[in-house]
Amino acid sequence: MAIQDIYPTALRLLGRPVLVVGGGPVAERRAKGLLDAGAKVTVVAPVATEAVRGLASSGLLTWEQREYRSSDIDGVWFVQTATGTAAVDTQVAADAEAQRIWCVNASDHEASAAWTPAVAVVDDVKIAINAGGDPRRAMALRNAVATALETGDLPLRRHRKPGTAGSVALVGGGPGDSGLITVRGRRLLGQADVVVADRLGPRDLLKELAPDVRVIEVGKTPGHHPVPQLEINRILVEEALKGNRVVRLKGGDPYVLGRGGEEAEFCRQNGVEVEVVSGVTSAISVPAAAGIPVTHRGLAKGFSVVTGHEELSEVPARPDHTVVLLMGVAQLRDSAAELAGSGLPLDTPVGIVENGYLPDQRVTIGTLGTIADQAEAVGVANPAVIVIGDVVRVSPFAPPHFKTADYSTITPNRPRVRSN
Ligand code: SAH
Repeated sequence: MAIQDIYPTALRLLGRPVLVVGGGPVAERRAKGLLDAGAKVTVVAPVATEAVRGLASSGLLTWEQREYRSSDIDGVWFVQTATGTAAVDTQVAADAEAQRIWCVNASDHEASAAWTPAVAVVDDVKIAINAGGDPRRAMALRNAVATALETGDLPLRRHRKPGTAGSVALVGGGPGDSGLITVRGRRLLGQADVVVADRLGPRDLLKELAPDVRVIEVGKTPGHHPVPQLEINRILVEEALKGNRVVRLKGGDPYVLGRGGEEAEFCRQNGVEVEVVSGVTSAISVPAAAGIPVTHRGLAKGFSVVTGHEELSEVPARPDHTVVLLMGVAQLRDSAAELAGSGLPLDTPVGIVENGYLPDQRVTIGTLGTIADQAEAVGVANPAVIVIGDVVRVSPFAPPHFKTADYSTITPNRPRVRSN
């Protein structure tokens, strides 16, 4: 049988009786596939796998524990035979043929009236592949297509809208590099009808959207005030209720100083389905872009992420507890004074990373005592992440006198040797 002689179609088997002859692993797989499609499955086999027996005892299928009889075919819409005995499969296929019932014969691919494709389901898309009678080739292709669908590399966007309400996904876009969004986030972006975008985040991905995807900018851009939070909430709900799939593309992680919780709550209160997709937060990744780990063996065991000087009184004021400030540029002088007042030594290293992961990334390194003046002198501006603590010593941008034996002797698997 040549590939051009097959006619691909999709059977809708919901509630229709189908027959599986055989109780081994192949029969089991096919029975499960048929059950997934909602068919009323009867398995005829003297012995069956544990899974088939389990499905039978929980009432999901009927197992006739005996040999096949020709009358088993009567009244079914579709037959799968996989008995492992060619003569029985041939008999089943012949009985089905006589009654013009489509039958897949597992033991004789060439003679089989129908073939089972390799299948993958990604969201509401089901793909089925036949590959010239080579099941492993079909499976490999199926896996590749499924991966491309999952990562958003293929156009998953709907062009026919269902009559029902749409949905909102709060997608953490990461700090700005388009490679730092999650696979799930990227896929949802590829399905979006409307994208509500921030100024920060993976802006390059917006350029890849289909031309008819609507992008609503709600972030602050130079000269423009940001759209107020209540208005953002309202837009999300309004667009979803129109039937759109809405992606709220946020910088970093939606739940880290990003007001994602409020957006999710407002959507739910208004009956809109909402999914939250975590993202790579700038609090951790932007320091990393300057070679600063927020924790490092021997230098810091924990870290705090805060916005400004008010919360700083609650934070441990020790060089071995890393403090990460977001949105902290304007208050930097006050924040440094607050930490110094709490007893953090003035020579504690501080790093500022502006525009992390972006072409104009800039790193400024100083100490708690000097950083405010340095920042002013070079004109540090938002967006920037400020990192305070001994971990800053690890950065390749740190001046040589910051580097101490304390960390240079550390290797991940060897205990640290203290030199006194
Ligand atoms: N939810 C976001 C944070 C939003 S607050 C997250 O998890 O990352 C916005 C602040 O994030 C900015 O003021 C800045 O401090 C920081 N920020 C975000 N992206 C940044 C980037 N690419 N470079 C430097 N700072 C960034």
